[in-house]
Amino acid sequence: MSKVVKFGGSSLADAKQFEKVANIIRSDKDRAFVVVSAPGKRFKEDTKVTDMLYGCYESAAKGEDFSKVFEKIEERYRDIISALGLGVSLEKEFERIRQAFIGRAGRDYAASRGEYLNAIIFADYIGYDFIDASDVIFFREDGVLDSEKTQEVLSKELKKHKNAVIPGFYGSMPNDTVRTFSRGGSDITGSIVARAANAEIYENWTDVSGFLMADPRVVESPRPIEVITYHELRELSYMGATVLHEDAIFPVRLAGIPINIRNTNRPEDCGTMIVASVDPNKDNALDAVITGIAGKKGFSVITLEKDMMNQELGFGRRLLEVLEKNNISFEHLPSGIDTMSVVLNTSDIAGNEKHLQDQICRAVDPDSISFEDGLALIAVVGRNMRRAKGTAARVFDAVSNAGVNIRMIDQGSSEINIIIGVSEHDFETAMRAIYKEFIS
Ligand code: ASP
Repeated sequence: MSKVVKFGGSSLADAKQFEKVANIIRSDKDRAFVVVSAPGKRFKEDTKVTDMLYGCYESAAKGEDFSKVFEKIEERYRDIISALGLGVSLEKEFERIRQAFIGRAGRDYAASRGEYLNAIIFADYIGYDFIDASDVIFFREDGVLDSEKTQEVLSKELKKHKNAVIPGFYGSMPNDTVRTFSRGGSDITGSIVARAANAEIYENWTDVSGFLMADPRVVESPRPIEVITYHELRELSYMGATVLHEDAIFPVRLAGIPINIRNTNRPEDCGTMIVASVDPNKDNALDAVITGIAGKKGFSVITLEKDMMNQELGFGRRLLEVLEKNNISFEHLPSGIDTMSVVLNTSDIAGNEKHLQDQICRAVDPDSISFEDGLALIAVVGRNMRRAKGTAARVFDAVSNAGVNIRMIDQGSSEINIIIGVSEHDFETAMRAIYKEFIS
């Protein structure tokens, strides 16, 4: 069975990185299908080609002269081609893209050329076939991935190739125009290709050796996560742990294909394995109750009180209807007998509080209503929590012993996460206290 490997922008930022990637691929003949990003940053202050393309297209769309930035983009690719001594030429492609910019071919088209050109070069370098993502990845009219059509066409196409390179990040719309996923979307392409190839594994190569148990900007040298389930990852990514695009999980999850996050600059590291489930008998990390901790600032709480709320039919529905009408999605809904709170993103309601308050009061006529912002949420995630008794108590003890007041508690019914809300200025202290309690 084959392996699908995806390399991110920093893994393919210049010729030296291309060499590392080729060595990785050649060291395992099962690495049959390769998905590539556009060249990323070569050093900290560098600009990703995708960002250059967005900037360049913006000028083109305004009718301004965009040739200087465009030349810089061309240079990035020419440098790679000449340093690797390749025979391939992109000059005709550059001209076609330049004309398309003048013809206002669209922002998505512009951004997609970063991966398109990189894939042409990489295919030439490694000696694999090139498959254009426009021919095998499809979006529906509403801009959502057409996964069934994609699966059908792509799996048929892959069967025709022993090895191939496919550009990440984009596909085509029903009218044949190019559409991209959201930023970082090559991860999704990799996952789609892995499903279509019925791969044994989807290796996602990046510049870190997998997920860490906590954000290293908050907790000092957190431990790496060796194994994580799709479910746990979803919880952690949602709360801010980034390495993989959150939508990249769905295609492989459908097919039960594990994802392995690996480091191009440290190929000897095992990285993080993302799997459907873990056999508890094999998981000798039973004492590691927690898989990871993640958190985010920027939440607000609306708290409502009303006597006999518990007997009032439709209270919750009417409250949520107000939010829905205002196009606001809520994060949590902790409730008591006569109280109900809604936790939402502050940015979703900023400037609209008064209006929202009036509408809520009209809809449910509460005895009191209050708005509070400055809330941070912390998710403590672990598949082993289901079996471990007293986990919640340990979280609360750790946080309160650190002198932090918990403003909200929510345990998901799947019992793989406990979410607490604390003041934003207590966020770091609480994160460190929880990490120390469970990990150190
Ligand atoms: N190049 C695109 C970006 O910078 C997509 C990707 O790398 O996944 O977002």
